[in-house]
Amino acid sequence: MPSVNAACVSVDEETIVLDQPSALIDIRGVCRSFPKGSGEQLLVLDKVDLSIRSGEIVGLLGRSGSGKSTLLRIIAGLVTPSSGSATCRGETIIGPPNGVAMVFQSFALFPWLTVLQNVELGLEALGIDATERRKRALAAIDLIGLDGFESAFPKELSGGMRQRVGFARALVVHPDLLLMDEPFSALDVLTAETLRTDLIDLWIEGRLPIKSVLMVTHNIEEAVLMCDRILVFSSNPGRVAAEIKVELPHPRNRLDPYFRQFVDNIYARMTQRAEPKAPSIEGIPGTGIGMTLHHVSSNVLSGLIETLAGPPYHGHADLPVLASQLQFEADEILHLGESLQLLRFAQLSEGDLMLTEAGKRFAHLDTDARKKLFAEHLLTYVPVMGLIRRVLDERPSHIAPATRFRNELEDYMSEDYASETLKTVVSWGRYAELFAYDEQSETFSLENPG
Ligand code: ADP
Ligand code: MG
Repeated sequence: MPSVNAACVSVDEETIVLDQPSALIDIRGVCRSFPKGSGEQLLVLDKVDLSIRSGEIVGLLGRSGSGKSTLLRIIAGLVTPSSGSATCRGETIIGPPNGVAMVFQSFALFPWLTVLQNVELGLEALGIDATERRKRALAAIDLIGLDGFESAFPKELSGGMRQRVGFARALVVHPDLLLMDEPFSALDVLTAETLRTDLIDLWIEGRLPIKSVLMVTHNIEEAVLMCDRILVFSSNPGRVAAEIKVELPHPRNRLDPYFRQFVDNIYARMTQRAEPKAPSIEGIPGTGIGMTLHHVSSNVLSGLIETLAGPPYHGHADLPVLASQLQFEADEILHLGESLQLLRFAQLSEGDLMLTEAGKRFAHLDTDARKKLFAEHLLTYVPVMGLIRRVLDERPSHIAPATRFRNELEDYMSEDYASETLKTVVSWGRYAELFAYDEQSETFSLENPG
């Protein structure tokens, strides 16, 4: 009997699938480039495919700069793809599509309007009459837990309450798709968790006047907590590297071993080497001068090496464990791990971080010897460090303006990343005593010329 039943179920399911409307959003082969500082194009999204159907919460998970916001803005009709197609209900997206609302990380409220006015604003463009507007705005305010704050101004509210206004303003239009761009990342940990849980509870109870959600995040646990499906983005350029279905019932428990398995699995995918790049040709992103350096302090790096070397890790740690123990977010621990890997003090693999021999050695040296070893690795493994040092050595003045290197970096990366990379170069170089840097005149110089 069970087998007969199973057969029936699968036929039923097939019928249901066939009856379902086609995808609400369809993204096919979407690429998007932006001009770099140097005037050339930086490929941010590369052949991205994505569909969103009614009834699901989809997460876009990826590192900072992987193009998540750009993709969201394409769906919101705020950015056009360079190539490929983006459709909403089968129609090409050429401006904000009907039935799509967005919640921003920065809340984006009007400070001179009350809560009620901010929420009603979402309806004005739809030509809904004043009575109905008021009714729906009050209902959204009530639903999202802002009852009693209708006449408050944004500045009178806490961050969490302000973001609730952001949600109410999006919900009031009863959108088919709610887009959320890191909506919790500007909130403190507890406030963020309360808001996440409230939203999921409302979603599960079917009380949210929306049909689907697309949420951008760089927080792995947040994605596993909330989403039915997670698309993991790789960076440089942004591509969909993996799709993970999270078939855990709600309410989900972060301590549940299955939950942990999902988190581990995603960490592993995010630390996997992308398909082997061509042997390091000068000019491809991620090698040579064009290597992006994330701004992580050398003190944090050396502290991390020390922690990794000691108990209970003894040189080998599981990234999610390390992140939660040291209270780092996924994005931060990955940047740290990558920096250590770049410097050959550790190796990332399948969601683990392991010290190399050099890393173990580093942990046991005194401060001066650490600086020397750090300097050695910087010059060997970070091409831009070698370049700066060479230029300073060669110039009789032993001085060089930062623009000299900034321009070179901008041939390979966006202005933002060039700035971040330069900032990192300065702080690592100072720690290693490779050169000095004067903020005022923005010049590099040799500390002990000759
Ligand atoms: P994420 O949201 O994943 O952090 P973004 O989509 O914001 O990533 O940005 C991806 C890359 O695209 C970054 O290098 C960023 O500097 C660049 N970028 C985004 N928008 C623009 C723009 N309007 N002009 C130039 N570069 C941009
Ligand atoms: Mg973003």
